[in-house]
Amino acid sequence: MLQLAPYAAHDEDSRGRRVAEPQPSRRGEFQRDRDRIIHSTAFRRLEYKTQVFVNHEGDLFRTRLTHSIEVAQIARSIARALQLHEDLAEAISLAHDLGHTPFGHSGQDALNACMKPFGGFEHNLQSLRVVDSLEEKYADFPGLNLTFESREGILKHCSRTNARALGDVGQRFLDGTQPSLEAQLCNLADEIAYNNHDVDDGLRYGLITIDELLEIELFGEQYRAVAAAYPALSQRRQIHEIVRRMINHVVVDLIEYSETRLRESGATSIDDVRRSDQTLIAFSPQVREQALTLKRFLRENLYNHYRVRRMSRKSVKIITDMFEVFMADYRTLPPQYQDAIRDGNGGPADAEHKARTVADYIAGMTDRYAIREHARLFAPQEQT
Ligand code: MG
Repeated sequence: MLQLAPYAAHDEDSRGRRVAEPQPSRRGEFQRDRDRIIHSTAFRRLEYKTQVFVNHEGDLFRTRLTHSIEVAQIARSIARALQLHEDLAEAISLAHDLGHTPFGHSGQDALNACMKPFGGFEHNLQSLRVVDSLEEKYADFPGLNLTFESREGILKHCSRTNARALGDVGQRFLDGTQPSLEAQLCNLADEIAYNNHDVDDGLRYGLITIDELLEIELFGEQYRAVAAAYPALSQRRQIHEIVRRMINHVVVDLIEYSETRLRESGATSIDDVRRSDQTLIAFSPQVREQALTLKRFLRENLYNHYRVRRMSRKSVKIITDMFEVFMADYRTLPPQYQDAIRDGNGGPADAEHKARTVADYIAGMTDRYAIREHARLFAPQEQT
C-alpha cells in the first residue's frame, strides 16, 4: 500500500473489535473486515435487491450489489489519491447497503411505517445490525466482529434515540463530532455512484431523455464536449462517454477540494479529523450545487416517474401485508424466526422484540423472495 497520510485511519491505531481477536497474519485489520463482508450472506443477497429498478425488470440495471461495487471503486480511487486507507474505504462501501430492505427506498419507507410503534426502521442502523449480530457464521463471536472504524463508517446516519442505545459507535451523533475521512468519502462516493448510474439506467429504461438532461449543468457540459469531439458516436457509446466524464469531473473536484480543506484544517491525526466542526471531505460549493440540481432532477423525473411509483405501491403493499400477518400470528414465520421470538417460557416475548424479529426477516429478503413469500401467504393457489 502507498504511504498513508497522518490523518488517515491506521490499522495499528484501530479502536478495535467488540470481541478481541488476535491480529490477522499477512493482512491488515481493515482488509480482514472487507474479506468478512464479501463472504457474508447479506452481501450475496444484494444481487437480488433493488436499487431503483426491481430485479426482474431487466438484466442490465444496477442492483444493490453492482451499486455497492461501483461505490467501492469510486471510494478506493478517492482514498488512494488522498493517501487514505483504501481497504477501510472498500470495506465500508461494500457493507453500506447490507441492511437495505427489498424494493429500495419504498420498501424501507414501508417497513419504517410498520415499525413506527416499535422504534422505527433505519436502513443504516440495520446494516450495522447485520454485521454486528444477524450474520451468524463465526464460532467465537456473533456477527462479523468488524473493527470500530468499519462499523462507524457503516452507520452513516442515526437518530439520537438509537445513537444513545448504541454506545461508542453512536456517540458522534450525540456530540456532533465527525467520523474518519474514509467514512466521509464513502458517503460521497455513494452519492456519486447513484447519481450517475441512475442517469444511465434511467436513459436505458427510457424514463428520462437526453433532451431533458441537457438542462442539467453536470450532464449538459459533458454532453457538449462529447458531441463536439465525436459527432458521429452511437447513442449508447455517447451516453457512456458522458457518464464516465461526469463521474471523473466530480471525483477530481472532490479530491482537489478535500486536499485544500485538509491542508487548511491543519489536521495531523484521525483524532483531529473527529474533532473538526465540519466534514473535511467535500465537493467544492459549485459542484455541490450542480450535484443537488441533478439530484432534484432525478427525484422529480425518475424516482417519481409513474412507472417507478407503480412498482413502489406494489412493494409497500407486499411489505405491509407480510408485516401484518407475521405480527398477527408469529407462528406463520419460518421456525428459526419463531425461536428468536420466543422467550424462555416458550411463549412470545414482548411486542417490540417480536416486531424487530419480523423486521429482520423482511429486511433480509431479496425482491424475488419477498414477491414469492407474499404469494405463499396470500395467493390461495400457491403452496405455503
Ligand atoms: Mg448506497
